[in-house]
Amino acid sequence: MSARRKFLRGLGAASIGAALELRALSASATEAAGHVMAARPADEPGRALTPWRPGCLDIHHIATGRGDSSLIIAPDGTTLMIDAGAMYAPPPADLDLLPSDSRRPGEWIARYAWRHLRSAGLAKLDYLIVTHLHPDHVGDVNPDLPRSADGTYQLTGVSDVAALLPIGVLLDRGALDYENVAIRDAPFARNYVAFVRTRQAAGGRVERLRAGADNQITLTNRAASFPTFDVRNLAVNGEVWTGQGEAARSLFPAISTLKPDDVPDENAYSAALRLTYGRFSYFAAGDLTSNTFDGELPWRDVESSAARVAGPVDVAVAAHHGLFDSTGADVVRALRPRVWLMDAWHVSHPSITTLERLFSQRLYPGPRDVFATALSPENSSVNDRLTKRLSSRNGHVVIRVSPGGEDYRVVITSNSDESDRVKTVFGPYQSRGPQQSLLFAAKQWA
Ligand SMILES: [Zn+2]
Repeated sequence: MSARRKFLRGLGAASIGAALELRALSASATEAAGHVMAARPADEPGRALTPWRPGCLDIHHIATGRGDSSLIIAPDGTTLMIDAGAMYAPPPADLDLLPSDSRRPGEWIARYAWRHLRSAGLAKLDYLIVTHLHPDHVGDVNPDLPRSADGTYQLTGVSDVAALLPIGVLLDRGALDYENVAIRDAPFARNYVAFVRTRQAAGGRVERLRAGADNQITLTNRAASFPTFDVRNLAVNGEVWTGQGEAARSLFPAISTLKPDDVPDENAYSAALRLTYGRFSYFAAGDLTSNTFDGELPWRDVESSAARVAGPVDVAVAAHHGLFDSTGADVVRALRPRVWLMDAWHVSHPSITTLERLFSQRLYPGPRDVFATALSPENSSVNDRLTKRLSSRNGHVVIRVSPGGEDYRVVITSNSDESDRVKTVFGPYQSRGPQQSLLFAAKQWA
């Protein structure tokens, strides 16, 4: 039995007739996208998350407890996945693997994506974007993991997802030679690159992310129907968009001139993206850091430059799992979102210093809600003063943007099984739009 058939079998009777359903949904999707985009039914606690509808933008932060992954379904049905991490250390260091430890994290991610694509009438990931080559974003390795059919790599994280779902374009920071990845000989990086080589040999598309570009990740189905949808590559490899055209500038000095301790680590090379749809905007930056080592290495702070050029957004992901060295004061001032989100998979996520900044009324005034995909009891017992203010501390976090991007909700769904049962619905929040956000910011600076 092929890996894909074995995988689908586990999803039960619901998958029977999926092809038929897919055809029917695609037809209605096309019709709706071309004409009126009907509002989707409301999500209600206790019931399953309603399917994506054409015209809507859904951003799922998938909570396996073992690494980052998010799934984006754009208004025309174009699909993006950002990262697919997989960590294997037992709790309490890594968090509980959910829904259970009967499958690998990458398999849970693939199954999550597959069922949401299927219910939307979609069948593949158009893009898989790897922010950087760390194991909690591409998949760690250990001797127990199964090997690919050709034996050249192990199934974990990204390669687990690729084994089960078709992927249009794979984008990362090192393709095609990976000469710019210092850790390329680390076991998890070698495994990922071996997977990429096999994919290339089979004719699969692989591209290096280009800082500043907004034509690299585009709508593939009905772009003309959604002219306000845009994905901008804000930063990657220490290069940041200037805000002019597609130009980018490099923040790092020549690596050969640096002391070994000052050489940027893999996190500092992470990709950052801004996604906009009408008045709605979203910021995500992998594990990009803002740490300057107490002012000693200001050029190491790529994240603040990315945040400044992004400008205020509605929803922002606190980079690097909410750890102390990311989402510095300037990042918070620049992004000033209504909704913060943290991808957590380790007992140390998040740091109290980052929580202080996310909740700070000094850095920007006004209400905000902060969500985490997970939180360990150990972390909570130490950081309770602020973790008790989190709006959610376990479960998938799904941002659901209305047609046209006017408003959005945050829906928390259970990750204790694959039912996608809604736990809580937050919002609606009004999208602020660039103009209003800038005026708001100007007033604050006056
Ligand atoms: Zn990470």
